[in-house]
Amino acid sequence: MKKGIKSGCAVTLAFFYATWGATAATGYAYNEIVPEVRQLASISGGSACPVRSHIRAVSSALAVQWSTSLGTNPQTIITQDQTPNGRLAEIEQVITQSAGVWSGVNGSTLQSLAVSVTRTTVQNACGPDGVNSICFNQADLAFTPGVLAFTRVITADRIGVQIGSGAPSSEVGEILDVDIYFNPSDSRTSYATPPALSETPAAYGMESLLTHEVGHALGFSHSAVWSAMMFPFAPTVGTFSGTRPSQGHPDAPLGEDDRTGLRVLYPDPADTLRVGTIRGHILNANPLSLPASPPGVTGVFGSHVVAVDAASGAVVGATVGGWSCSAPGPAQFDGSYAIERLPTGASYEVYAEPLNGAVDPTQISDTTRSLCRNSTSDPGWPPLQGCVAPPVDISFTVRTRPGP
Ligand SMILES: [Zn+2]
Repeated sequence: MKKGIKSGCAVTLAFFYATWGATAATGYAYNEIVPEVRQLASISGGSACPVRSHIRAVSSALAVQWSTSLGTNPQTIITQDQTPNGRLAEIEQVITQSAGVWSGVNGSTLQSLAVSVTRTTVQNACGPDGVNSICFNQADLAFTPGVLAFTRVITADRIGVQIGSGAPSSEVGEILDVDIYFNPSDSRTSYATPPALSETPAAYGMESLLTHEVGHALGFSHSAVWSAMMFPFAPTVGTFSGTRPSQGHPDAPLGEDDRTGLRVLYPDPADTLRVGTIRGHILNANPLSLPASPPGVTGVFGSHVVAVDAASGAVVGATVGGWSCSAPGPAQFDGSYAIERLPTGASYEVYAEPLNGAVDPTQISDTTRSLCRNSTSDPGWPPLQGCVAPPVDISFTVRTRPGP
């Protein structure tokens, strides 16, 4: 998550060529991985279609450790109770609450997700070791200017991958190791727990930042919806993202876009209400405007497609569209999109816009760059299952044509 200002975004209201019944594979902006098809089909699945990163359906609690090494110069974490034990208890409460936000969404199997939080005194506890860790005092090259926090996710591209002490993957796309890093080295940046935030208006809300990072840990990329928790820019110092979680509404800080995305990634088969899908293609009116390379691109890649509830005017879900895939792959860049898990019995308006506002293609690159593997990226890759993702198209304008 980056420092940023939510302003100056020009939104183009637009429509699109709607076609129904096509099979688009995109659901939301997720962290994707292409299975390792050079291995036996029994361990890769045999298909080069991208798979969404996701945590394994857990029967026991999801284990997370956090490093109690907090740094004192500068002091980056402000708590209300500044006694040594009080600080740790307050920070731990933030961790628990941030995870609770994502396990409080109706229509998602994560509703029953329990998280067990333990402490470690090791300073550099984050790394590819099979242990999910949160670190507040660990330097990293990814801390370029403006980066407040980030999450590193390791995903299995085949069955049987093992990282450190973690269990081997049992399915493709399984998240094997997640580490959340907060920037400890920017002397002008501090983070405050919720009770301390009002007294330290120059600090960033630790709860909001951590809730966003936990979204990455569950498999999300970024969203271009301003009200979404997965919007890539942090809320202004001294403020929270959205409404604070409460006992009755643990998921209150999330945008409806986050909830829809979570339901797509972890669908509850018992949910019969949110089973609607809007599908279509974003196509170039002028085929000559398609990119000259790579070959085979037949639609707009990387458009932001947004579904709005017609009655309330609220954004209910959005996706980054532009591709589809059916086994054995590879991904086809045909302009397809799908917004799934929408409540039925409602009317929606859909528009498409280029990602040329506050959110640009670099902030969703883990979703767009990881859709293809080929003989250049992976020597010996089967040519028929190789592809090259086109650049994200940010220059289009959109015209209306009513769907059938
Ligand atoms: Zn982020």
